[in-house]
Amino acid sequence: MSDHWSPATRAVALGRPPHAPGAPVNPPLELSTTYVAGGDRLYARVGNRTWDAFEETLGSLEGGSALAFASGMAAVCAALDLAPHGGVVVAPDGAYNTTVSLLDSWVATGRLAEVRRVDPSDASAVARATRGADLVWLESPTNPLLVVADVATVAHVARSHGAISVCDNTFATPILQQPLDLGVDVVVHSATKYLAGHSDVLLGATVTRDAAIEERLHTHRTLTGGVPGPHETWLALRGIRTLALRVERSGDNARVLAERLGAHPAVTRVRYPGWGAIVSVEVGSVARADALSRGTRLWTHATSLGGVESLLERRRRHANEPAVVPEDLVRLSVGIEDVEDLWADLRQALDALA
Ligand SMILES: *Cc1c(COP(=O)(O)O)cnc(C)c1O
Repeated sequence: MSDHWSPATRAVALGRPPHAPGAPVNPPLELSTTYVAGGDRLYARVGNRTWDAFEETLGSLEGGSALAFASGMAAVCAALDLAPHGGVVVAPDGAYNTTVSLLDSWVATGRLAEVRRVDPSDASAVARATRGADLVWLESPTNPLLVVADVATVAHVARSHGAISVCDNTFATPILQQPLDLGVDVVVHSATKYLAGHSDVLLGATVTRDAAIEERLHTHRTLTGGVPGPHETWLALRGIRTLALRVERSGDNARVLAERLGAHPAVTRVRYPGWGAIVSVEVGSVARADALSRGTRLWTHATSLGGVESLLERRRRHANEPAVVPEDLVRLSVGIEDVEDLWADLRQALDALA
């Protein structure tokens, strides 16, 4: 029955105990590290019923089997570890900075032979790079350049070359994009961002339809121990209940702001794919970008994204941000506040740059 429900309904209805008189409406927060022998449970690093509720719900939204990890990076690491020792990975030239750092560190240690960096929107460049590759990494849209890939084409090319395809779906969320339906093998999330949605939980997840890959990801999680606490998955599931509403509202706000930003004389370039709730702007210099970041009162100058509250930051303030990201780029994570209040605050900070 739930297969026919829309994502907005499944986000609310799944991951709950069966409807039975006296049953709780919410899943239990199960705080036990061990289980009485002889049943289907063993030990908390291997599985937990509160994880199950989160994994059932996210898995349904993405159309596969989900596994919760301690952070987005723990999930990224598990997915990249699907590449063989000495393998070749294709990745966007401007992906999430810590993913890029992890890939670089694996090349430095010999864990990977090579990372081929490509513009993910250039399908023929991706196809050329995929020859002889073991794993193709996608992030679409990318953080923070908001480059959108043709996910279906890249997944198809990866499959035809025998490479595993992975898509970091953190920015799009399963409300706006379901990469498994487009042929991708593994979806990765920083659930810290939109899924949990309130900037109070660090959590990651993988989702796949391939049973052999799921087994490898589960083994990676159990052996390396990058597991979340039950409380984190409980809070993230509570966040998912409102995911569709938050994505709709923050996306509506972003659309209005992207248009107005594009018309403001202090803004030299707006990057906005036409959907989602991240907008990146360039303002002409590092000093002006820093002044914009410091000049708002409602918007908070902070890293991270995907929460109910609006945040902004100059990404190149991080030493490991890829150099392909312009130095004067400010990434805006648009929240669910009233759009007129958001605009009034941004406008006064931009006016002050003139
Ligand atoms: C934040 C982020 C990550 C890392 O997630 P953490 O939960 O911070 O470990 C990975 N990918 C993208 C696109 C992100 O924005």
